[in-house]
Amino acid sequence: MTWLSDLMRPALQKLKPYTNARKEANGFVPDIAIDGNEFPWPPFGTKLPLNRYPDPQPENLLGKIAALWNLHKDTILISRGADEGIDLLIRLFCREGIDQIVICPPTYGVYKVAAEIQGAEVLKVPLTSGHQLDVEGILNVCTPNTKLVFIPSPNAPMGHFMRREDIFRLCEARAEKSLIVIDETYVEFAPEPSGLLPDLTEYPNLVVLRTLSKAHALAGERIGFVIGQPELIQNLLKIHASYPLTQTSIRAALDALSPCGLILGKERRKIIVNERKRMAELLPKSSLIDSVFPSETNFLLAKTKDSAEVMRKLQSFGILARNRDSEIPGAVRFSIGTPEENALVLKALDIAVEDASPPLRLFSARRQTKETSIGVTVNLDDPGFLRIDTGIGFFDHMLEQVAIHGGFGLGLDCKGDLKVDMHHSIEDCGLALGEALKGALGDKRGIGRYGFTTALDEALAQATIDLSGRPYSVFDGKLPTPLCGQFPCEMTEHFFQSFAVALGASIHIAMQGDNSHHMVEAAFKAVGRALRQAFKREGTALPSSKGVL
Ligand SMILES: *Cc1c(COP(=O)(O)O)cnc(C)c1O
Repeated sequence: MTWLSDLMRPALQKLKPYTNARKEANGFVPDIAIDGNEFPWPPFGTKLPLNRYPDPQPENLLGKIAALWNLHKDTILISRGADEGIDLLIRLFCREGIDQIVICPPTYGVYKVAAEIQGAEVLKVPLTSGHQLDVEGILNVCTPNTKLVFIPSPNAPMGHFMRREDIFRLCEARAEKSLIVIDETYVEFAPEPSGLLPDLTEYPNLVVLRTLSKAHALAGERIGFVIGQPELIQNLLKIHASYPLTQTSIRAALDALSPCGLILGKERRKIIVNERKRMAELLPKSSLIDSVFPSETNFLLAKTKDSAEVMRKLQSFGILARNRDSEIPGAVRFSIGTPEENALVLKALDIAVEDASPPLRLFSARRQTKETSIGVTVNLDDPGFLRIDTGIGFFDHMLEQVAIHGGFGLGLDCKGDLKVDMHHSIEDCGLALGEALKGALGDKRGIGRYGFTTALDEALAQATIDLSGRPYSVFDGKLPTPLCGQFPCEMTEHFFQSFAVALGASIHIAMQGDNSHHMVEAAFKAVGRALRQAFKREGTALPSSKGVL
């Protein structure tokens, strides 16, 4: 017996978990599965195999998370949100009427409720006047039956981090006696590196909770993680529901963690963090608001003079915030929304603001056919990211030219049928990139209608672009060889055709030279340079006499 199994409920120490045929088949992957009494056809209206039971802990999702957070797969349990992680931990360790958990108010409400449902006692040790952990206080209330200490860091409802030294001191003082559970629901909003995942190996009784709900936009799909010692994870798996995750939630999590999903998430979090900083400065200008607590999250807790009055004013604008008056007198919590939503919150509280800057032109597109699967994320106002992987080296290099010279951020990931030919991948990347740029341009307010440039190596290329909404492409130039590396030169023209159609632009390209590589590269650069001019925002007028583009 290890210290960990000693802490578990005795009734669960010898539990034989439910098993199914696929687990018992030990890795055998059937061509025909008649083991689960499933329906042989998928249901109406979906391409996902929803008629099949999902993998209880999908390897590919575990692998993605392990790679992203630099963990071993056997230290991760995928749960239905962090909330289910809290519930599973309490059920694994706490006997009704005997065992206890510790919470440190003000804190997240679910720890207490989950403990009460299980019949565990809840010991409360409030945060200090400096809003940090009262380590001595916690150690003083602990008994041999105190199994779990729940600590959100960043704190909810305030938003600041708990001091690492205090957490480590608790881990050491309660080694082999209690698990110290750090709930890092909001950690991704803080500047990196942050969080305690790297410290798990040092402290065997440290457990970290994470989730895709808040920072990865997936509250609706219920995907969270318990991260800790492999022995803990094995035991949690024993008491987990037999098929806890749905096919759709697994799919959504994989998408959010795909290269373009991660880039989109990161770019959007930047917007949220900027907005949080702006709101933190502006909210106290309201006569009803005294101050806001420091926050590293996607919310702000404000001290108000009258929380009910603040809630009423917001409600008259159709806005619902969270009244936390019962926990901290006068406190109201504001989640950070889109810039437009935040502007309305300020207006509801009679806070005057200067005209907001125009929204960032950030957009993601997804193209899925039998031949290719493509994700694209572009940000016309942030060239700070570039990640391209089409499986065709030369083509990656050409797309990089468009983004670098175009002055926009580009993430593009293509898995195509390269075994057949590069044709589908190149063509579909043109369509997907055009679609994403078109989406990012939105109503095209303030952009230049024409872009034009020449780019010169030994070769000369000229690109003229009109973002008119009317697709057209003209390609003038003879490439002296059929291949650039493995890249078929004839696909250059075809790429720009597809790109023009999806972007809704007329693109004219003319090139001359002796070397195909130079000519093709010059053409991609020229298109990038032309796009840079066309994307530039000057004022807010539409660059057309018709009033629409
Ligand atoms: C929102 C929240 C959770 C719940 O996360 P899910 O993954 O959606 O269950 C857990 N802990 C804290 C501190 C939260 O604020």
